[in-house]
Amino acid sequence: MGISRKSIEQLEQGDIALIGIPFDNNSSFLTGPAKAPELIIDAIKSDSANYFTEDLKNLDRHSSVFWCGNHLEKDYLKFGQPIKQILGKGAIPFTLGGDHSITYPVMMAMAEKYSNLSILHFDAHCDLYDELDDNKHSHACPFARIMENGLAENLTQVGIRTLNTHQKQQAERFGAKITQMKDWRPDMKFEIDGPVYISFDIDVLDPAFAPGVSHHEPGGFSTREIISMIQSLDLNIVGLDVVEYNPERDINGVTAMVAAKIVKEFLSKLL
Ligand code: MN
Ligand code: MN
Repeated sequence: MGISRKSIEQLEQGDIALIGIPFDNNSSFLTGPAKAPELIIDAIKSDSANYFTEDLKNLDRHSSVFWCGNHLEKDYLKFGQPIKQILGKGAIPFTLGGDHSITYPVMMAMAEKYSNLSILHFDAHCDLYDELDDNKHSHACPFARIMENGLAENLTQVGIRTLNTHQKQQAERFGAKITQMKDWRPDMKFEIDGPVYISFDIDVLDPAFAPGVSHHEPGGFSTREIISMIQSLDLNIVGLDVVEYNPERDINGVTAMVAAKIVKEFLSKLL
């Protein structure tokens, strides 16, 4: 039983490559997410559950889903290097963070292959600060860097419940489409044409459902609401990340299992 291992070199066209970027030095408040990738893979393999997605796809030693291990380049701006290699193999990169700052270098690699990407971003925070604590690469800034460098054509954000005037201005500057948590309704659909990159910050869930995150922002989604949203997506997904799981803040590994479940349901979408 397990998620099969492959090195990036062994990947083939159409494979889905789970890789970890164990990095949390750009976190503004707490560290911990660097330990997340392997713990999420362990949770997928937990004997307390089985390998099936809810629509009955069996991920146990699946012939096109692979764990490629952790990859940490020395230089933050080079973190996309393994993603570039994965894309070069014709495989789909599914990155496990790490804090949310990893999404900027990952998107640098994605944008080299896709010139017309859209981003669908789940988060309690819109992460559009021009800088935070004098750090332009803070985990509160990745979508500002991505948009000002033209790495995506458009940005759709959902679950936001921490807007302030600066980030509202930034959102307007970048033309971000924000569905704040307060305005979200279960029947909302995301209609996005062309290739889509999904960036999923675990703190989009309510901390009651997912306490293992650095920033507890009440008033978020239930696990069921998120799973239903994932299951209803009808998009051309070409890459994903799941970030900001912080095991230091988790209780009995409950958030690891939530992260694992979300990864499984996203995998089902790709298969
Ligand atoms: Mn975030
Ligand atoms: Mn967040």
